[in-house]
Amino acid sequence: DAPKPATRDLLDKRQAHFAAPQKHYYSTPPEMERGWREHMFDVEGRAYLDMVNNVSILGHGHPRLAEAAGEQWLKLNTNSRFHYAAVADFSERLASLAPEGLDTVFLVNSGSEANDLALRLAWAHTGARNVLCLLEAYHGWSVASDAVSTSIADNPQALTTRPAWVHPVAAPNTYRGAFRGPDTAGDYLLDVLDNLGDIEARGEGLAGFIAEPVYGNAGGIALPDGYLAAVYAQVRARGGVCIADEVQVGYGRLGHHFWGFEQQGVVPDIITVAKGMGSGHPLGAVITTRAIADSLEKEGYFFSSTGGSPVSSVVGMTVLDIMADEELQRNAREVGDHLKSRLAALIDRHSLIGAVHGMGLYLGVEFVRDRETLEPATHETAAICARLLDLGVIMQPTGDHLNVLKIKPPLCLSMESADFFVDTLETVLSEGL
Ligand code: PMP
Repeated sequence: DAPKPATRDLLDKRQAHFAAPQKHYYSTPPEMERGWREHMFDVEGRAYLDMVNNVSILGHGHPRLAEAAGEQWLKLNTNSRFHYAAVADFSERLASLAPEGLDTVFLVNSGSEANDLALRLAWAHTGARNVLCLLEAYHGWSVASDAVSTSIADNPQALTTRPAWVHPVAAPNTYRGAFRGPDTAGDYLLDVLDNLGDIEARGEGLAGFIAEPVYGNAGGIALPDGYLAAVYAQVRARGGVCIADEVQVGYGRLGHHFWGFEQQGVVPDIITVAKGMGSGHPLGAVITTRAIADSLEKEGYFFSSTGGSPVSSVVGMTVLDIMADEELQRNAREVGDHLKSRLAALIDRHSLIGAVHGMGLYLGVEFVRDRETLEPATHETAAICARLLDLGVIMQPTGDHLNVLKIKPPLCLSMESADFFVDTLETVLSEGL
């Protein structure tokens, strides 16, 4: 049976006062009530396997996290202008996770804030304004992070409304981009060089380059081999700084790596992180060098009322403790590898699947109508997601054509849940669309 949709009253109430640009999943969504590990439950008690929640990395309703947060709430919550151990401990802990030299931390509350601040740091440090970003990217909703967001699925006007300081370069999409396969870094570099040449020709400087080190928004696609090394070298040669947006792909999700940039064999100048680091509590961070961080002093001091609060710092440290104790990065690797190989096995049986992208528990199943032309199967993907909901699986599309299943569940996903997902997907594909 299809799930019972939320009552019309509740949807009407939401639409009456909750601003319309804040979309909701599904045309007739179930009303969600609680969560446990990789499952959510609606008010009817119906269970759903949550395969998209990359924020709750520990899983829903983690009692140890709730207890640690609750205890700290009862003890003290204030702001980081006061002196307390947790903010120093958490900053030290984050710095210890980053490569050598990236030892200085700003604590904020979201990925948008982290990317906004990273761009301000690039501007302050270089004295220049121009920033290179990728096409088909999403970096946040705040003014600067939105400016470098080029995904037309999120904003159909994105490509005609970017400010003059934003220079989008060709999407290095190794599956459906202008150049295909892992050995295309040199081809994609040409567009980067063109853009850098335009900036130079205008007699202007370069502030930096921002990209997800694994192409999360396009469905977890690996960048061409050596792409970031080549782009970072060009950007640094012109005085710019390199920002790695690890909001989606970093923090252990890839299983084989803690950070996405490790997969490309590079070290950025600025790392931005959010989402999973708070496992649902609003947390974000910028990790950079002392020299880049200190550049912001030219613009006065930096203060976030709740960034790095005692509660946020304790939540952040508890998330890392639980990840270590429950070996969640290892689980992401083992369950992710199993899930990817089972999904890849569907390719032979279902012509709609063009490719399976990604690594660990950031995977993408890309649907195409034709494996030669790669015509995106956008409507089919929407229908598959709707049918998966009927069968108890939460899944959403991503990418500029909304034809890629965005697989990024809590990192505690069990082997049984991974198998349930693949079996259910196979049922849906076999039903015909
Ligand atoms: N960067 C990336 C790659 C993201 O996917 C997102 C959120 N989807 C953000 C930044 C913005 O994060 P937030 O929603 O926490 O502001």
